[in-house]
Amino acid sequence: MRTEFDAYWMPFTANRQFKKAPRLLARAEGMHYYTPDGRKVLDGVAGLWCVNAGHARPRIVEAIRAQAGEMDYAPPFQMGHPKAFELAERLVQLTPPGLNRVFYTNSGSESVETALKMAIAYHRVRGEGQRTRLIGRERGYHGVNFGGISVGGIVANRRMFGTLLAGVDHIRHTHDPQRNAFSRGQPAHGAEFADDLERLIALHDASTIAAVIVEPVAGSTGVLIPPQGYLQRLREICDKHGILLIFDEVITGFGRLGTPFAAQRFGVTPDIMTVAKGITNGCVPMGAVFVKQEIHDTFMQGPEHLIEFFHGYTYSAHPLACAAGLGTLDTYAEEGLLERGSGELESYFENAVHSLKGLPRVIDIRNIGLVGAIELEPIPGEPAKRAFQVFLDCWERGVLIRTTGDTIALSPPLIIEKSQIDQIVDTLRGALQRAA
Ligand code: PMP
Repeated sequence: MRTEFDAYWMPFTANRQFKKAPRLLARAEGMHYYTPDGRKVLDGVAGLWCVNAGHARPRIVEAIRAQAGEMDYAPPFQMGHPKAFELAERLVQLTPPGLNRVFYTNSGSESVETALKMAIAYHRVRGEGQRTRLIGRERGYHGVNFGGISVGGIVANRRMFGTLLAGVDHIRHTHDPQRNAFSRGQPAHGAEFADDLERLIALHDASTIAAVIVEPVAGSTGVLIPPQGYLQRLREICDKHGILLIFDEVITGFGRLGTPFAAQRFGVTPDIMTVAKGITNGCVPMGAVFVKQEIHDTFMQGPEHLIEFFHGYTYSAHPLACAAGLGTLDTYAEEGLLERGSGELESYFENAVHSLKGLPRVIDIRNIGLVGAIELEPIPGEPAKRAFQVFLDCWERGVLIRTTGDTIALSPPLIIEKSQIDQIVDTLRGALQRAA
């Protein structure tokens, strides 16, 4: 029998299961969602790692409302509008030195495709057209478009889709539960995992490699935090061989780690950086790619009448997104949110999540900034089942968490109060105790 839940084919969702027990959200404000029947749910994951300033923030709401009335849409090719330029100027004040050019997209996936194409085109424009190979990392998540799943390292996201992009290879992931279980912040062991890049360079020759893309902290595969010295080493190897380093900061950008970007937290500056999510506080779809001056300038060296980069989207620099972005940056600045996930609140969050150590079947806990992960022992033959049980239990008790495989991920809005951290962790504690 057809139901009201049939027409919508939901992304990354078991539709058949969902419609047996639909979970609907109807309203949101601050740290909370509300269901259609008025139940209040504490948001432990900032929607989907994106609502960093909390929900329905007045400055953002008002900026979107005003923009919709003033100008709904403007074509972005060979045309512009003031807020697109204003937002870019404001954004590059937050980025690490040198990353001072912004290319707009509409999502994290589009940012990744843009960055990969930019890297290949950059080498071509400067006369190294043979540098086309792209290197990702096992367990990496870079969105769902063809470039992103090709450099990505999540088997389930790749296996249905054929041969994917040619000329892609992967370095090993950084998860090392033997040596690093229950680390706080950056794990001590594993800087040498970066040397795996040298293996691929030896195999393919550096002169064929355009770029390496990694998430500074891998989010969607269970919050994998880079070992101390790892990103520095990756940077050094890329420099030695003329390979561009791309950081995918779709999750780590905009204060998640207590700095505007992970690049600042870890003291490593990539050549290209992709963002989305927190750029508009999740309110209007938008992404961006930050690029080093030199890369940008290389594209600008051709004859003046030519288009410099054959790439862009109908909705690049959409006026509503730019307005939302400006309102978002105002909110972050006024409330000091981009720094809030470091220092005292980070320590409080760290101690709270690590208080779950010792509960049955908890095999690892990881954290940095305001992101945390609790990894559970998988049930043989039924991966992800136990964590999903915990997710459902928390949902019933008014706390929204997220699961990726057998890992429970927390990434609350940066406005979270200590008492709300307690509520999330206490609810999780109960759910973990009840989990089979
Ligand atoms: N890159 C990373 C690191 C992400 O975490 C995500 C989304 N979670 C994406 C890219 C894709 O972003 P989107 O879903 O907006 O396309």
